[in-house]
Amino acid sequence: MADPQPSAARLGARKSIATVSLSGPLSEKLTAIAAAGFDGVEIFENDLLGTVLSPEEIRARCADLGLAIDLYQPMRDVEAVPEDVFVRNLRRAERKFDVMRRLGADLLLVCSSVDPRALDDDALAAEQLHRLAGRAQEHGIRIAYEALAWGRHVDTYDHAWRIVEQAGHPALGTCLDSFHILSRGSEVSGIAAIPGEKIFFLQLADAPKMAMDVLQWSRHHRCFPGQGGLDVASVVQAAARTGYDGPLSLEVFNDVFRQADAARTAVDALRSLLVLEESAGLSEPPAPSLPTGFAFAELATPDTEPVRAVLDALGFARTGRHTSKPVELWEQGAARILLNSGAGSRRYGPALAAVGLETPDPAQAAHRAEALLAPVVPRRRAPVDAPLDAVAAPDGTELFFCRTGRPDHPSWTGDFEPAPATRHQAGHVERIDHVALTQPWHQFDEAVLFHRGVLGLTVHESLDLADPYGLFRSRAVAAPGGGVRLALNVAPGPGADGQMLQHIALATDDVIAAAREARARGAALLPIPANYYDDLAARHDLDPRLLDALRESGVLYDRDEHGEFLHCYTATVGRVFFELVQRTGGHQGYGALNAGIRLAAQYAHQHRP
Ligand code: MG
Ligand code: MG
Repeated sequence: MADPQPSAARLGARKSIATVSLSGPLSEKLTAIAAAGFDGVEIFENDLLGTVLSPEEIRARCADLGLAIDLYQPMRDVEAVPEDVFVRNLRRAERKFDVMRRLGADLLLVCSSVDPRALDDDALAAEQLHRLAGRAQEHGIRIAYEALAWGRHVDTYDHAWRIVEQAGHPALGTCLDSFHILSRGSEVSGIAAIPGEKIFFLQLADAPKMAMDVLQWSRHHRCFPGQGGLDVASVVQAAARTGYDGPLSLEVFNDVFRQADAARTAVDALRSLLVLEESAGLSEPPAPSLPTGFAFAELATPDTEPVRAVLDALGFARTGRHTSKPVELWEQGAARILLNSGAGSRRYGPALAAVGLETPDPAQAAHRAEALLAPVVPRRRAPVDAPLDAVAAPDGTELFFCRTGRPDHPSWTGDFEPAPATRHQAGHVERIDHVALTQPWHQFDEAVLFHRGVLGLTVHESLDLADPYGLFRSRAVAAPGGGVRLALNVAPGPGADGQMLQHIALATDDVIAAAREARARGAALLPIPANYYDDLAARHDLDPRLLDALRESGVLYDRDEHGEFLHCYTATVGRVFFELVQRTGGHQGYGALNAGIRLAAQYAHQHRP
């Protein structure tokens, strides 16, 4: 009977994905799935119907790619119907068995009926599924019966299992699907009642928590495990405890993946399974080496002058010049900005190219990143020569794992020689507080999972923020303790590359003084409308002198139960702007309430007469 302990070796061994989860023609999907590193596929009937490849050719293609065909699906509306209808269903099944024979597939998914003629009669359902399984067995095929969350009479996994148990046929088992289970709020503890060998298949999907019709929710909003709000790991754990030793298979469809690049989605998908296995305690990839702070932010631009002017006005001093590359080091407090004139685009101007993360164990962080399929950045692209391990985030930003100024580790700062000093100011900037990265809209979920999985950061709540032309999404990921915070924002729409603004927020001890001094040194700070301050006065009981100072310096204000957040922005240069921030009392936010004001002010500033 059931193995009481989850077995990492067995569960970790095979990973599969339904072809419906990717965009494009079937042959391209198969190539992408194999290239990502999956072991098998579920062939979705519509993909088969839509391809010119014969079942034999699909079989050969899968064999060439090293992919097993783990499942053929779906067969709908089979059970608990009047006899004449069931006889026609059996005929339908024979056609599918024939296709499966040609494909070399031996497991067929049957989902619970939504046929209005179906009867609420478990005995009839069991009897008919028994007959179906008998026919299947003659072809060497097994049937996995799955409860759809919107099935007419069978809509929970435990009900589907009771019918399978009652049918009592060796070629009939059940298929568990985490979306159908968790979307209904079913207790996963009941999975323990199913013998592992009767779970013929395990399908996994997540979804953001939403209050909507479950069918629409499933069709449009399923996402890969770890990208939504369902406890998918609990289903995997429960299945593992029964002794289930089949594949972990992703069955995800949503409006975004259907338009996204298949190769990239396949990698995102496999990463989600790797992270899921770890969360379920079934595998142990190298543990994250949690970043403790920002080592640097690198801006790339062929024309460095506009950025230099901003850095200078913000109180940064150029302190170093790379010994062999066109890279300058600018510093203030513990904040370091690298200016790389050997990279970047003339068209879009300065852009954030890389972020250095202070990492206790850079090699370990890099091993984890590789284990979780993060693309490793070739060393020659590094802005510095010291051994730095780097991976590319989904938006292309390079993340360097480094240790700065540790005697036991060669530091990247050793690649810089002192530069002819620019004027040195006693500024207010202490360090980099956070970096905001804009993601293409169809890569947003991928980016969140990447930063959580690869870096081990904690994901915070998703926010919808209003800008002058619509809503945009923002989600923060941060290291415990707040040493590293990243704000992931979604770009306005497809093809909006030029609008993919990024920003570097600098922590200050006195943002009002920092703003005044920056202005005095010629910085263009974003003007904030007077209406904002009138409203602020009404919302918060602020000291009138503070309110005047905010108004006069163009500083925005936010507050929660922990403390205050004061911040202002520079005008945008290319794709980048800077933010000066001051946190008091352990405030952990990012001024989300003011984001709409900032976006409107940026728009007004960009289109000023
Ligand atoms: Mg399913
Ligand atoms: Mg910010």
